[in-house]
Amino acid sequence: MQENFSLKPFNTFGVEAKAKYFIEVNSVDELIETLKHAHSQTLPLLFLGGGSNILLTKDFDGLAIKLNLKGISEKALNENEVLVTAKAGENWHEFVMSCLNKNYGGLENLSLIPGNVGTSPMQNVGAYGTEIKDIFVDCKVLNLETLEIETFNLEKCRFGYRDSIFKQKGKGKYVILEVSFKLTSKIHSIKTEYGAIKSELENLGITNPTIQDISKAVINIRQSKLPDPKEIGNAGSFFKNPTIPLAHFENLKEQFPNIQGYPNENFVKVPAGWLIEQCGWKGKQIGNVASHKLQSLVIINATGNATGKEIFDFSTLIIDSVKEKFGIELDREVNIL
Ligand SMILES: Cc1cc2nc3c(=O)[nH]c(=O)nc-3n(C[C@H](O)[C@H](O)[C@H](O)COP(=O)(O)OP(=O)(O)OC[C@H]3O[C@@H](n4cnc5c(N)ncnc54)[C@H](O)[C@@H]3O)c2cc1C
Repeated sequence: MQENFSLKPFNTFGVEAKAKYFIEVNSVDELIETLKHAHSQTLPLLFLGGGSNILLTKDFDGLAIKLNLKGISEKALNENEVLVTAKAGENWHEFVMSCLNKNYGGLENLSLIPGNVGTSPMQNVGAYGTEIKDIFVDCKVLNLETLEIETFNLEKCRFGYRDSIFKQKGKGKYVILEVSFKLTSKIHSIKTEYGAIKSELENLGITNPTIQDISKAVINIRQSKLPDPKEIGNAGSFFKNPTIPLAHFENLKEQFPNIQGYPNENFVKVPAGWLIEQCGWKGKQIGNVASHKLQSLVIINATGNATGKEIFDFSTLIIDSVKEKFGIELDREVNIL
C-alpha cells in the first residue's frame, strides 16, 4: 500500500489528485484482505478501472484500489452461442478484439471504448446501436458490506441508458469482479443502421460486412471524431443525451426548427451535442479547459494543466447555458469525485 499517491496516470482527463492510500490487487483474495483492512480503518473506497469515466475534483481521503483481476474464459452453449467471461481488470477493447479474433459476434459495435470490462455494467456502455445489455448474461460482484460474492443477472442490473443499479440503489455497495456475455459463434447479427457505419463501409468498399468489418468501420469513425485520451485528456461524452416530454419538444421545434429528436412514446431524446453547440460552446476554451472542436459533448483538458475543479466548473457553465436557452437540464455522464 502506498501513501499520498498521485492518481494522475489513472484518470484519462490527466488531472492531478492524490489518494491518501493506493493499492493494486491481483486476485479476489487480495481484494478481500484489502477490504478487511479498509473496514478496520473505516477508510472510504475508490475503485479504479481504466479511469476513463471519472473526474477527480479533489484529493481522495481514503483507499484507491486498482483492480488488476485478469483472465478470460469461455464455454460453448450450443452450435451458435458461446458464453465468454472476462475478469474486471481486462481492458475492454483488447477483450473485444480477442472475441473478434475468434469470430465471436456481439461486441463489434462497441470497439475502441476505453476502460475495463469490470466497469462496463456501471453505465451499460453503449455505442453505435449496441449496449452491453444486448449481450450481457450476468456479473459476479463482491458485496462490500458482507464481503460475499453475489451474481447479478440482467434483470437485477436494471440497465438503462448509460445507467444501472450500480449507479443508483447499488452505488458504492458492490465491486464488480467479472462479467459474462453471450456471443454468437457462427451466424452473426450485423448492425449497420446507426451513425456513420453504412457510409464508412461504403468508403472501405465493403458491401457484405463481417463482424470484423463492422469493428473496423466503428474504429475508423471513432478515431476520426473523438480525441485520443493519450494525446488530449478527456472522458468521452461528458453529458448524457436528455430525454424530454413530447410537449416540451414540440414547443422547442417551433422556436428551433432544426432541433433533432428521437421520439419514444411521450418522450423525445435530444442530442446533447446539438444543444451545447447551439449555445456556442463547440471548440470554446476557458483557461485550461475546452469543448472539443469536433464533438462539443466532449470536454477536454486543453492545455494538459487543467484541474478537476476547472473542468467541473466549465461543465456547470454548459449546463447553465443549455438550461437558459432550451429549458433542459443536462445530466453529467462522467462520475464526479
Ligand atoms: C474517448 C472516450 C470515448 C468514450 N466512448 C464511450 C462510448 O462510446 N460509450 C460509453 O458508454 N462510454 C464511453 N466512454 C466512457 C468510458 O470509456 C466508459 O464508461 C468505460 O466503461 C469506463 O471504464 P473505466 O474502467 O475507465 O472506468 P473508471 O473511470 O475507472 O470508473 C468509472 C466508475 O466506476 C467505478 N468502478 C470502476 N471499476 C469498478 C468495478 N470493477 N466495480 C465497481 N465500480 C467500479 C469507479 O470507481 C468510477 O466511479 C468513453 C470515454 C473516452 C475517454
